[in-house]
Amino acid sequence: MDDHPPYPSGLRLAGRRVVVVGGGQVAQRRIPGLLAAGADVVVVSPRVTPAIEGQVIAGELTWIERGFAVEDLAEAWYVIAATDDVSVNEQVSKAAEVERVFCVRSDDGTTATAWTPAVGRYDGLTLAVLGRREPRRTAAVRDAIVTALHEGTVAADVRRPSVPGVTLVGGGPGHPELISVAGRKALMEADVVVADRLAPRELLGELPADVELIDVAKLPRGRSAQQEEINRIIVDRAKAGKRVVRFKGGDSFVFGRGFEEVEACRAAGVPVTVVPGLTSPVSVPALAGIPVTHRGVAHDFTVISGHVPPGHPDSLTDWEAVARLHGTLLLMMAVGNAAAIADALLAGGRKPDTPVAVVCDGSMPGERTVLSTLEGLGADLEREAVQPPAIIVVGDVVAVARPEHYG
Ligand code: SAH
Repeated sequence: MDDHPPYPSGLRLAGRRVVVVGGGQVAQRRIPGLLAAGADVVVVSPRVTPAIEGQVIAGELTWIERGFAVEDLAEAWYVIAATDDVSVNEQVSKAAEVERVFCVRSDDGTTATAWTPAVGRYDGLTLAVLGRREPRRTAAVRDAIVTALHEGTVAADVRRPSVPGVTLVGGGPGHPELISVAGRKALMEADVVVADRLAPRELLGELPADVELIDVAKLPRGRSAQQEEINRIIVDRAKAGKRVVRFKGGDSFVFGRGFEEVEACRAAGVPVTVVPGLTSPVSVPALAGIPVTHRGVAHDFTVISGHVPPGHPDSLTDWEAVARLHGTLLLMMAVGNAAAIADALLAGGRKPDTPVAVVCDGSMPGERTVLSTLEGLGADLEREAVQPPAIIVVGDVVAVARPEHYG
């Protein structure tokens, strides 16, 4: 007897001849599983139990009413030696070896060419547990798994939803573990993934090979043309019956243009759902150990896009009003305009020594934090050659988090 583990395989027996030699309790226990698999079951035995006889009468299986003969294995795909006579079982397994038919032996697993696993079924899944001929242990493991599936402690409902459509998934700040469970699940169920530059890239490597991956960073530039193209892609794919995941960094509705995509789907009659993500203005400071609120220090925080500089005709932000706020300011897409924003805040009355932290590449391998003040921000960013993506945190919470730096 060799020590190798068995090789598991799911035999598809529908319409295929399976010979069960023996008609007692062991045979009776094996037959229902074979019938459930659609096998053409032939029982060879001088006598059978009343239950087997009932199945014969019902036409569910064939009974050859005599002892085993080598010819019984002709045309057989699989054989079970289940008599209580060791010499007969021995004869069956030897004949099976010659015929190259896999043979299960109820009495002596060491010489058998196949073992019967402990089998459990749950909602379309078949579980087979094989040990080293340890029936109690394998049955216990099978029971534990089936129970866990029923109780939901092992998730089994990752079956693909039947409805095509678009799911907007916020991927969090970039580290693959910072996506939500729902987001990851949607990603794994997708037929098409349309990914942004800032979406957690590592997760894309885990996608099944047949998933179509569309990298938006590679689409032609020009923001609105690009957005129209994305809208067109997600709507077209969903209409073609695909499950589309629109995969973004952070949260889709925080400077992510996510709602434009929701509107495009709705206008086209395509079902659309949203899985929120950890948004960077809150999570990236947290990763750097900076709280956006702190009792007695900041009782509000404000998230602002710095994409358009203060004073620009397209600016929708009232920087004078912002300057008068007492809480934390979280500036996004603001590296390029940081000096101009600092000037506007100083002009509006914020103190020059207001602490500022610039957290770059949050949750990524190159994450770093540059500490500064409103007054020194422009020069510090230049000296440190800070590149996007970065979150600029303005306010006393920075000093609370880094007392050693601000004294
Ligand atoms: N929807 C995203 C934001 C997209 S706008 C979210 O909810 O987080 C892009 C800006 O987000 C960047 O310019 C930067 O300010 C910020 N950002 C996103 N990911 C970041 C990260 N990992 N580290 C630092 N800033 C990040």
